[in-house]
Amino acid sequence: MLKLKTYCVKPGKKVKLKDWNPADKSASPGTGADDARELAELAARLDELQDLLYAEHKHKVLLVLQGMDTSGKDGVIRHVFDKVDPLGVRVASFGVPTKEELDRDYLWRVHKVVPGKGEIVIFNRSHYEDVLVVRVHDWIDEKEVQRRFKQINAFEKLLADNGTIIIKCFLYISKAEQKRRLQARLDDPTKRWKFRLGDLEERKLWDRYMSAYQDVLNQTSMSYAPWYVIPADSKSSRNLLISRILIDTLERLKMKYPEPEENLDGVVIK
Ligand code: AMP
Ligand code: MG
Repeated sequence: MLKLKTYCVKPGKKVKLKDWNPADKSASPGTGADDARELAELAARLDELQDLLYAEHKHKVLLVLQGMDTSGKDGVIRHVFDKVDPLGVRVASFGVPTKEELDRDYLWRVHKVVPGKGEIVIFNRSHYEDVLVVRVHDWIDEKEVQRRFKQINAFEKLLADNGTIIIKCFLYISKAEQKRRLQARLDDPTKRWKFRLGDLEERKLWDRYMSAYQDVLNQTSMSYAPWYVIPADSKSSRNLLISRILIDTLERLKMKYPEPEENLDGVVIK
């Protein structure tokens, strides 16, 4: 039995990224065909749970996806949510802030797009960029970083207190795997558009990024908003693990379909 807890950063516990292995494939021990079958089953189950979430109209679900370039954020959205009804799922992607966004506090653009009741929202990057990319480039000082950790914890607590279930996944790839994937992007004409020369500048800062991610895990994994470290060198293992975490979390909510209006038994449609 796969223990999901192994991948969760226990609140209050100091962790080191090297406690996890990006190449870990425990979530997908089977053959490629086994993995595909299992992922299809999990996707169908996720669709059922999303239908229930939508119908019950009580909880809000926020899935935060963070990771280096090519770590598979887009791939998770495409494959894990393959069978889920688009009615109840929304993706919010966070790129370089616009002038309008930079003129305001960094949580402004984030708070606007959080999930409403019955909705699942996937953050493709997130407010965590504001303690990652901006920290790694020294665009903010250490005092501001610490201030932001507190602000982020308070912000997520506010969301959680208002019925938001928050799951945060760090897609952890190795530097060697990123090299392969960046090369694959260059070589494939249908993927080349995703390649930006700037990505190579970020790659040079790999160690600084890993240290910043480790701090994020240590400072912002809370019982109400836990971080999971997802070994992501294997795409199938990554997808299966995130699917299972989502399903496990949603099943714990013990959701129920709303009671129908009374006296429906005798209703005849003419
Ligand atoms: P992609 O996800 O590949 O489309 O790239 C989005 C880019 O936007 C990445 O290079 C991020 O680091 C960058 N980005 C996202 N949020 C911020 C932010 N708050 N400040 C600066 N850059 C950001
Ligand atoms: Mg990119």
